[in-house]
Amino acid sequence: MAVLTDTEVQNTNQLTVANIQQLSELNEGDVVLINPDGSISVLYEIQSLHNAIMATERCNHRCIMCPQPPILQEKDKTDFNLKLLSLFDKNTKGIGITGGEPTLIGDNLLVLIEYIKKHFPTSSISLLSNGVKFADYKYAQKLALTMHRDLQIDIPIFSDIDTEHNRIVGANTFYKTIYGLYNLAKFRQKIGLRIVVHKQTYKRLPQMAEFIYRNFPFVFHVAFMQMETTGLAEQNIDELWIDPYDYNNELEEAVLNLARRNMNVSIYNSQLCILPESIRNYAKQSISDWKNIYLAECDGCELKWECAGFFASAENRHSNKIQRITI
Ligand code: SF4
Repeated sequence: MAVLTDTEVQNTNQLTVANIQQLSELNEGDVVLINPDGSISVLYEIQSLHNAIMATERCNHRCIMCPQPPILQEKDKTDFNLKLLSLFDKNTKGIGITGGEPTLIGDNLLVLIEYIKKHFPTSSISLLSNGVKFADYKYAQKLALTMHRDLQIDIPIFSDIDTEHNRIVGANTFYKTIYGLYNLAKFRQKIGLRIVVHKQTYKRLPQMAEFIYRNFPFVFHVAFMQMETTGLAEQNIDELWIDPYDYNNELEEAVLNLARRNMNVSIYNSQLCILPESIRNYAKQSISDWKNIYLAECDGCELKWECAGFFASAENRHSNKIQRITI
């Protein structure tokens, strides 16, 4: 099928989608979904390092800052996702599995992992999960038995206090997530922890770091993440927003606490100019390219090439302390 701008449509007798704006942003090998209303969604970008499939849009949590609010019912997407994967370039370096909560599709998640393992032998997998389902020992075992050589399961944790975590995720699942982490550790799975920082989580970042070191020294990676202000985060913004500059003390203490103990720690989605120099080298370029922007203030910044920049949704809401860096 041809996907064309309106000026080209006269010259083809192929099955054609026409009048697509910004066609120049697509590359040969990208995969698009043509929606019934004629719009197109880009599902795979051959040049991106952040390609992912959405296992389901359902979720068993209702996190107050969820950037992608879940839906209640849907037709299982596994066949669609297998078809989508079949269109990916065989040399894709990394494939994400996201949601919603991917484990809600049960054993079909293992089908997706097995497919990726077979057809993309050099690709890593990043599985984003709330970890609850892995409290089921047998399910954690099944995941381990896929024997994928480079699968990382990234699990968010929001507080060292059970009731606080439960309030933020909108479910009484703190201990299930903890059991899930231990079950995955028993099977020597590669685990990442993610802490989204906002007004309701920043104060206890130092305690969180200590909690993680004491209880989960086996995790491969810990990421402190600046919040994306879209979806439910946007709806609940008054309860969640704090200028990221204003939690630097807590962030610095937490990051350095874990780093001094040789834990692998990163800061995601943050801008270098607002971070204390002591923790700038933990910041990573973590924002998916399709939603990554820089502001006018960034023009001429000498650290732009290594700075994560902003989520597109941050254009109108970001730290007041953004300032280009000249060395
Ligand atoms: S000015 Fe922009 S590019 Fe430079 S460090 Fe700040 S956010 Fe990053």
